[in-house]
Amino acid sequence: MRQAFVTGGTSGIGAGVARTLAHAGWSVIAASVSQSELDAFEAQDGIAVRRLDVTDQASVETAFNDLTQLDALVNCAGILLRGDEYDIDVFARVLDVNLTGTMRCCLAAHPLLAKGGGAIVNTASMLSTFGGPLVPAYSASKGGVAQLTKALAGRWAEDGIRVNAIAPGWIETEMTQGLRDDPDRTAGIMARTPMKRWGKPSEVGALVHWLLSENASFVTGSVYPVDGGYLAM
Ligand code: NAD
Repeated sequence: MRQAFVTGGTSGIGAGVARTLAHAGWSVIAASVSQSELDAFEAQDGIAVRRLDVTDQASVETAFNDLTQLDALVNCAGILLRGDEYDIDVFARVLDVNLTGTMRCCLAAHPLLAKGGGAIVNTASMLSTFGGPLVPAYSASKGGVAQLTKALAGRWAEDGIRVNAIAPGWIETEMTQGLRDDPDRTAGIMARTPMKRWGKPSEVGALVHWLLSENASFVTGSVYPVDGGYLAM
């Protein structure tokens, strides 16, 4: 059975990915920093949960050192602190979770993935392409995730590891609850989204499933939008 490790795997997009992969027969470890999230996660066959802080090197090493097999790493852990990201400490924290945390997990997973020719999917964003004036740290981190993905794809192809990223548009999760509760922000987003709706975590999970599959065997170093057409407008 193929084994996947999904960071941020007990909430929102990560949970959608974990459930999609488990449904397809993968054995999944869904990891999160939040104990309350882990406790509340609805159990499903094929998914084991565990605590992980992607900003803590020891926590990351422990999580991956325990494993003997790994076929996929999906980095979904992320934060966005709208309104606070012009504070330099907050800026550094967002970078640490979203960008350095992604790299920490990629490095920790690399030896196991190299054993069996595994794959990595990182989580970029629409804000990998354009800037978000209210979220400078988030924008910088997601631009960085896209470039990190390409760099690792180049370096680790020789190890048989494919590295890609997804760039979700506006997805129904905890992170977008504030936007979805604001009629003016929602109207602006829908005006630019040809499909005129929010995306679902399961629709992101379907793309990740494909990127991890043999059907994507010649795909690496790419950043795939899953956004209802938002980026095309
Ligand atoms: P979410 O808040 O529902 O999930 C974020 C997850 O990250 C949670 O499980 C949280 O516990 C985990 N996390 C946060 N800090 C962590 C840490 N230090 N260590 C380990 N886990 C940590 O949000 P979401 O919308 O599902 O976001 C998932 C990913 O998708 C993020 O990288 C986010 O930037 C990205 N994204 C989301 C959207 C969207 O519209 N929702 C769009 C583009 C990109």
